[in-house]
Amino acid sequence: MAETVRRTSGQTVVNDMEALRQRARELLDAGTVQVIIGYANGSNRRVRPFFARRPEDLERLILDDRCVLNLAVYLRKPEVKALGKAAVIATPPLLRSILQLAAENHYQESEAVFLALDSAGNVLELSSAEQIAGVLGSLPGSTGQDACVPSADRMPALSAGSTDRQARFAFWKQEFERCIRCYACRAACPMCYCEQCLVDSNQPQWIPVAAHSIGNLEWHISRAMHLAGRCVNCGACSEACPAGIPLNLVNQFLADRIQQEFGQKAGTSAKLDYALSVFSGSDRETFIK
Ligand code: SF4
Ligand code: SF4
Repeated sequence: MAETVRRTSGQTVVNDMEALRQRARELLDAGTVQVIIGYANGSNRRVRPFFARRPEDLERLILDDRCVLNLAVYLRKPEVKALGKAAVIATPPLLRSILQLAAENHYQESEAVFLALDSAGNVLELSSAEQIAGVLGSLPGSTGQDACVPSADRMPALSAGSTDRQARFAFWKQEFERCIRCYACRAACPMCYCEQCLVDSNQPQWIPVAAHSIGNLEWHISRAMHLAGRCVNCGACSEACPAGIPLNLVNQFLADRIQQEFGQKAGTSAKLDYALSVFSGSDRETFIK
């Protein structure tokens, strides 16, 4: 399961939740925000996104280990923006997403405030990228290392330091065969915000739309390259995939390479240049000069 805010005692959850609800109520009552974006119980013990516009609706707000959907994805949607300023119940993956979106000029500080719980159960209200970057590392579940960790026997070719390219390619080819091209991964990802995705273009058609081996491979390689150095390892894509493909691992593999080569890690600062959109005269590759 992707990382979430973690709590060790049920009582602590209740108390923390009441503090979160109370602060959310105050923000709505004061007109500081017009909508609270969080989580509520759905059907079959599933959790669903929750949009509260009235203080009395906040009783339904929850936050527990099942809340892995990355709510940052809603801040990009025009229909959500139209509701007014939002307060968002924040987990560390969401806050990493906000920093990365801000680094890409796709988030302005006036758009939302974020309500997070610190390790003592206090409610933190965060509005600026500097505030988010300042507290992110100290929040429960903020390491960013444990999103959808695979079992070692499932993908030995991906173990740390593996240089077996053929084994890696065979693994991903097999995984991508199962893709049904529903694009739930794209819909769940806060970094997939292009108004027209290249896979939806038909003039020219860059990528075949049918779910077959070559088209699936092209889709996933294209998406991985578009996310290279931008994925914040929230795990929302893997959680959303009905075929159970561990998508965030391919993005994290690239993220690790980019950190090694360029010293950059997505979701750590709003002042990052992301590796595939900038160049420097001191880059090692000579073609760029
Ligand atoms: S690619 Fe997956 S893990 Fe990475 S930011 Fe998007 S949803 Fe999260
Ligand atoms: S969510 Fe899974 S099945 Fe759907 S397009 Fe993405 S990888 Fe394919």
